[in-house]
Amino acid sequence: MSVPDHLHFYIDPNRCIGCQACVQACAECDTHKGDSMIHLEYVNRGESVQTVPVVCMHCDQPTCAEVCPADAIKRTDDGVVQSALKPRCIACGNCVLGCPFGVPEVKIDQQLMQKCDMCYDRSSVGKKPMCTTVCPSQALFFGTREQIEQLRPRSRPVREFHFGRQTITTRVHMMVPKDVQKNYVDITAAMEERAAARHVALKVIDDPFAEVQA
Ligand code: SF4
Repeated sequence: MSVPDHLHFYIDPNRCIGCQACVQACAECDTHKGDSMIHLEYVNRGESVQTVPVVCMHCDQPTCAEVCPADAIKRTDDGVVQSALKPRCIACGNCVLGCPFGVPEVKIDQQLMQKCDMCYDRSSVGKKPMCTTVCPSQALFFGTREQIEQLRPRSRPVREFHFGRQTITTRVHMMVPKDVQKNYVDITAAMEERAAARHVALKVIDDPFAEVQA
């Protein structure tokens, strides 16, 4: 079995409410044995509580697999990049450093790299990935392009990412506002954005007990 061509994974960071339901559901998946393959990142922790769910983007040419010296990471014909295979993986961490999206993680206790495989045990037999079944805000969605276009008339899916001069295309789509005309997400441009300046005034006092004693 394989993941059908017309079914895609969509991430809409704007809709993420940081509830961690996806993280918990992922850990409960039959094949993950309590480890979650998805994590949440804070966009700008000093300024906001906005979170973004991070899953494997399933690159067309996965850097993690290209830099793996043990040939432990396979991309299946349906475009899903699999988690590292035991006993090939030597836990060297090259894939962790190589992934531009910051996805793979070497589990030290298992001496094995693990990452999201789009719940291949489920998605290859017609079921949705676990995280997409529990996300209450549909920040994570698995379905057809027609469905997402109907659900999100003000957004559109993008699957091309620019890292400086490097372009990466992925099987997973990111939802961006429809009025943004670019056909790609420029990751390095986002890194250059500076947080707004903040002024924090500390109250300096001589005697911390003065008010209590008065
Ligand atoms: S940690 Fe494992 S999967 Fe990752 S590059 Fe090294 S051998 Fe390959």
